[in-house]
Amino acid sequence: MTILDVGLNFRSTLLENKLKKIPFNLPHLTGKEVHYLYEAVHSGQLAGNGDFTKRCHRFMQERYGFGRCLLTTSCTDALEMAALLLDIQPGDEVIMPSFTFPSTANAFVLRGAKIVFADSRADQPNVDEKQLEALITDRSRAIVLVHYAGVACEMDAIISLAERHGLFVVEDAAQAIDATYKGKPLGSIGHLAAFSFHETKNIISGEGGMLAINDARFFERAEILWEKGTNRAAFYRGEVDKYSWVDVGSSFLPTETIAAFLFAQLEQMEDIQTRRKAIWKRYEQGLQPLAGERHFSLPFYPPHTSNNGNMFYLLLPSLEKRSALIRYLVDQHNIHAVFHYLPLHSSPFYTDKHDGRSLPNCDRYADCLLRLPFYYELTEADQQRVIEAINDFFK
Ligand SMILES: *Cc1c(COP(=O)(O)O)cnc(C)c1O
Repeated sequence: MTILDVGLNFRSTLLENKLKKIPFNLPHLTGKEVHYLYEAVHSGQLAGNGDFTKRCHRFMQERYGFGRCLLTTSCTDALEMAALLLDIQPGDEVIMPSFTFPSTANAFVLRGAKIVFADSRADQPNVDEKQLEALITDRSRAIVLVHYAGVACEMDAIISLAERHGLFVVEDAAQAIDATYKGKPLGSIGHLAAFSFHETKNIISGEGGMLAINDARFFERAEILWEKGTNRAAFYRGEVDKYSWVDVGSSFLPTETIAAFLFAQLEQMEDIQTRRKAIWKRYEQGLQPLAGERHFSLPFYPPHTSNNGNMFYLLLPSLEKRSALIRYLVDQHNIHAVFHYLPLHSSPFYTDKHDGRSLPNCDRYADCLLRLPFYYELTEADQQRVIEAINDFFK
């Protein structure tokens, strides 16, 4: 180490101490949460399916036209309910992208399904709808889609394929609240859809989720699975004179305090979404010049999809470049940018169960995608710091 290196190290340490950390995510509070929590706590009902739960259901059904809604304790739970509702049996095949969170697959693996992983599109991480038909066999039961970053999958092609082969369509809409496909809300198109209100999503309740049920054949049973295999919900509505054990089920419904917290967020939907979309636009404008010089590419939204301000990512040319940029941002600028999914088909749990096909686009997103800090409280000045730091890196 030379005197000069020591000097540089010292300077960079000073810089780090001085520079405020820009985290990847910060949960946003609207201010009304504590008020509604207080109301819920004093309402006399703390268990689930109370007044706040019903208000959340009504809000979602009215705003998005979902058939029915049931709050759950997570998107993971909503996906598990979907697998139960579709009556997935051991040996059934379920087709889904490999570039997703383990819960998308786990829900069906728990029922004994074999997961048939599909590759992503070349232009964005959503499943490549053109590759799906070749994966269908007579054991296929369902296609599970992930609207990555709130970008709609090619629903017309996928629904018509599913209809031709008698398959169910489940939307993993964890990142897709308030996004549309040809003007239709995501989550309203498949037979079933699962949403997440985890603190990293647009609308949050800490942990939390929701199942949207668009096929009326599932309305009654969904409610029973949700209420531990009993017809308690029907009993409370006065439709049956006692409630009993009528089916399998679990305790998928959240306590009222979670619904109260969530309702405060839902009421501020417009404000939250407007703000997040503005943040997204600023990143796009600020980073366009570097993308024009081909240092990376920006997220691609097909014209018939909408942008719900879920996340902003860069697609770098290689794993090495991405790792170097992550390190540079954190070491030199105290900015925390993160990569995303590791492919499920080559995960420690599934690699020996996968049929061996390579999924090159999925691998590329796993290696090259970088998510930038994105949260409601991100100020214009901090966002400018992120954009300038990225510019410095490529200088
Ligand atoms: C966040 C996420 C999940 C899991 O949501 P939880 O509410 O944490 O269970 C599932 N799938 C996708 C695509 C996600 O982004």
